[in-house]
Amino acid sequence: MTTVQAERDLKSLAEQAGRDLEEASALEILKWATETFGPRFCVTSSMEDAVVAHLASRVLPGVDVVFLDTGYHFEETIGTRDAVDAVMDVNVITLTPRQSVAEQDAQYGPKLHDRDPDLCCALRKVKPLEDGLTAYDAWATGLRRDESPTRAGTPVVGWDEKRRKVKVSPIARWTQDDVDAYVAEHGVLTNPLLMDGYASVGCAPCTRRVLEGEDARAGRWAGRGKTECGLHG
Ligand code: SF4
Repeated sequence: MTTVQAERDLKSLAEQAGRDLEEASALEILKWATETFGPRFCVTSSMEDAVVAHLASRVLPGVDVVFLDTGYHFEETIGTRDAVDAVMDVNVITLTPRQSVAEQDAQYGPKLHDRDPDLCCALRKVKPLEDGLTAYDAWATGLRRDESPTRAGTPVVGWDEKRRKVKVSPIARWTQDDVDAYVAEHGVLTNPLLMDGYASVGCAPCTRRVLEGEDARAGRWAGRGKTECGLHG
């Protein structure tokens, strides 16, 4: 089968699953993904919390959990990654950009995130994920429709045109209350910054606490007219 034909098959499989699984539970969606793709499936996590990793480990113990270490994370985020690795039945894989922050500064000048955040995200997030996902046909995210208007149409299973992979969002239909209830019921690890005014946790230079009434992602690239890093947009 040609690569083009294989991609067409994967795309139609994803679109059909998106329709069939729209009303399914997060565990049912993940069960479909792990049974369909086996070791060619992974979970990606920003280590804001370990909810999707926890759900996936219930249907596939030892599942790959991919974390992008941009070099700009809060120490709490790295600590959450280490705790997930230590206590959960998952295989944490840390991806890193081709250049260290110092090497990037030398080539592009310091604080590229302030001057050209799209380029900084492309170098430190988009490209490393693209490279890291070559080992997989499908990846799961923690995207939720209630996080922001740009995420309101997130399918539970869809086709990632940019990476030409199946993209699974098992908690797309969940609300923040659903997440909080799952965390409380299962004692899931969460990033300590969530208890310190942050509603969404990204790189330190591009994340601030949210104000009352703001949506969960309002603290990301605040004032820069940017809402997504390019992984999901
Ligand atoms: Fe760079 Fe900010 Fe994007 Fe992180 S979120 S990769 S620091 S621009």
